[in-house]
Amino acid sequence: MSVFDHREFTEHEQVSFYHDKATGLKAIIAVHNTNLGPGLGGCRMWNYANSEEALTDVLRLSRGMTYKAAMAGLPQGGGKAVIFGDPRKDKTPEMMREMGNFVDTLKGKYITAEDSGIAVSDIVFMSENTKHVSGTFSKYSFDGSVADGNPAPATAYGVFVGIKAAVKHVYQTDLRGKKVAIKGVGHVGIRLAEHLYREGAILYVADIFPDGVNRAVAEFGATQVSVAEIDLLDVDVFAPCALGNAINEQNVDHIKARIIAGAANNQLASDEMGVKLANNGILYAPDYVINAGGIIDIFHQRSDSNAEKLREHLDQIGETLQTIFVAAEKNGLATAKVADSLAELKFK
Ligand code: NAD
Repeated sequence: MSVFDHREFTEHEQVSFYHDKATGLKAIIAVHNTNLGPGLGGCRMWNYANSEEALTDVLRLSRGMTYKAAMAGLPQGGGKAVIFGDPRKDKTPEMMREMGNFVDTLKGKYITAEDSGIAVSDIVFMSENTKHVSGTFSKYSFDGSVADGNPAPATAYGVFVGIKAAVKHVYQTDLRGKKVAIKGVGHVGIRLAEHLYREGAILYVADIFPDGVNRAVAEFGATQVSVAEIDLLDVDVFAPCALGNAINEQNVDHIKARIIAGAANNQLASDEMGVKLANNGILYAPDYVINAGGIIDIFHQRSDSNAEKLREHLDQIGETLQTIFVAAEKNGLATAKVADSLAELKFK
């Protein structure tokens, strides 16, 4: 497999591979662009089918972080890490400490954080061997609740703000009575469900594991749906909050929701999906714009800031999306394309 010729390579500055026999750690760190600052992005642990799948994932995620930081107005670049393995079975403290050693080899060009499969406690283990970590502590939270450094609450709030902006744009209403289908009720999805429920939305949820689904059904009156049908439900909003490629060749022409707005990174399997959604009259909230809450939170925790400024910054996600929606309509372009162009103006 060639890295430089990989279709997702897209001018990455650095891609590093790491293997540690003693702990079983196999990982990749990709740094896409550091023009605006160090590449900050989460570390994901996933049971990848093969190394090609992992490489594709880390390259796409890392590039997305560059665009995300730029659009959120942060002095940061884009990077990401992936660890091969099942987080429920293969993860050990020793492996996480070794991951800290790997992160440290990049000397601050990459700063890690939580992502799918990686918890605050794992980052704390990594921090024993590197100072280039984030998301391990919080000085405050955007809503006054007790915070442990996990960026998921801020991400979920940002997605909620983004869904409100999209619903207002399409229906000129608030969320009351709007039907929202959430695919993936993990750290972000379950918190998003709570926000939506409190605003009167009607929820449908699906996950490959029962924990989040059961909670959403019991606490937020959600209806459980199978993973196979969640994306094609007749709802107002489809919120992908699992992993990537939620919008793909198989489902793009069958989606009934008028809005797609969720937390997952890399929701579009390809750029063409964004164009197809626009042609089908579906409003897509570009993933890296709507899910920037976590990185915004991390930035404020690491800077001389406060809870009020953090919340204002999170609320700006709605305004940024509105600007993108209007520009896309005016110019007859896909929202994803408009977001890319705006981000590139900032970091290139
Ligand atoms: P998580 O691992 O806690 O939750 C993901 C959930 O999706 C899990 O419950 C998992 O079982 C489920 N899932 C996986 N594959 C699925 C499938 N095929 N169908 C249905 N459900 C499936 O992760 P998270 O932290 O909630 O993040 C969710 C998404 O949001 C990820 O794509 C992540 O990269 C992105 N994101 C997260 C943050 C954050 O702050 N945590 C920030 C930005 C973006």
